[in-house]
Amino acid sequence: MSEGSNQYDRTIALGDKAYAHIRSHRCAAHPRSYELWYAYVSDKVPGLVRAINEILSGAGRITQNQIDALYDRFLHSTRALVVSQRATTRLMSEMQQIDGALNTARDGLSGYAHSLERAHGDLLDATLNREGMQRLVDDLKRQTSDVERVNTHLAGRLSEALGELASLQEMLEGVRAESQRDPVTTLINRQTFDHELVEALGTCVRTRAPMSLLMVDIDFFKVINDNFGHLTGDQVLRLVAQTIRQNLKGQDVVARFGGEEFVVILPDTRCEDAAVVAEHLRGAVMSRELVKRSNGQNLGRVTVSIGVAGYEPGDSSGSLIDRADNRLYAAKRIGRNKVVSEDILPLPPTDPADSGSHPCVA
Ligand code: GH3
Ligand code: MG
Ligand code: MG
Repeated sequence: MSEGSNQYDRTIALGDKAYAHIRSHRCAAHPRSYELWYAYVSDKVPGLVRAINEILSGAGRITQNQIDALYDRFLHSTRALVVSQRATTRLMSEMQQIDGALNTARDGLSGYAHSLERAHGDLLDATLNREGMQRLVDDLKRQTSDVERVNTHLAGRLSEALGELASLQEMLEGVRAESQRDPVTTLINRQTFDHELVEALGTCVRTRAPMSLLMVDIDFFKVINDNFGHLTGDQVLRLVAQTIRQNLKGQDVVARFGGEEFVVILPDTRCEDAAVVAEHLRGAVMSRELVKRSNGQNLGRVTVSIGVAGYEPGDSSGSLIDRADNRLYAAKRIGRNKVVSEDILPLPPTDPADSGSHPCVA
């Protein structure tokens, strides 16, 4: 029971701290504010504490708009919102029930303390006879077993509540993990990637290890959608995602950047080595044949263009992405189905028939 009480005390203390923030920052008294501040005080969401502290140390205060933006950035997904609101409601009702059980136990104990004090006074009474003594003992025995019963009930409620809390936590973890992924390809989404990139840049600065970024864009993807429909387009997205994933090492991170663009973080990899990885990915994608699942129709092949950028001291997420993006568009300009890992001067667009035209429509 003491372990249960400790956990309960910790949860209540975190809840109190979260409410204190809601009050002191005059936030809307909404489950969303509670969830954000609870996540802040329990320090379970990577990056959230830093983001809030940065705002507070800069402006000294945080606005509701900023809270909403932080919630969207770190905690939100439609399903996550619904589930977390439900979980918060269940959590509050669980806490209220435990609070009730604790109050009953406290009242029982204080009544018991009074009885002991009274019994102490009675025992000092020289006129107390044998029968009176027997009554006193019977009374104390009855009250002791009452207190025991209340405590046993409280212990039961606490362990039930802990089970409930564990299942709520598991559910929220599941939803949070889901909200970090893109549903079409199951790769991590843009939001999660942004966080990963900041972490990777931090590692570069700390350890002086190299790091590179690949921006990968499917060539003529619109034509695939137009010719075969969006569902087939989605299948192509999955195929390219799977091909990239299968051709990377364990510590590399691939994400869907948006639309038909993917981004890859290659930790511990210099730009020239990243260009080799990119060439390998380009070849791997091109080597896969597209077959329509529903009818086995061969749709030809798909190609990708890739821009490569290596980390340079002073780089931010934005500057690194921009450099990789510029090189990706250089790869498009010089004909698609290419890897570009250095800045090149703009060239006039080439005739798509020369290279990289989509095989599906060729
Ligand atoms: P480029 O070689 O210059 O990259 O040409 P592109 O056709 O690949 O590029 P463009 O930007 O013209 O078209 C991208 C298309 O990707 C348009 C958009 O409808 C489609 N798209 C974006 N997201 C999805 C998605 O989730 N599923 C499907 N099926 N299509 C998507
Ligand atoms: Mg494209
Ligand atoms: Mg694109």
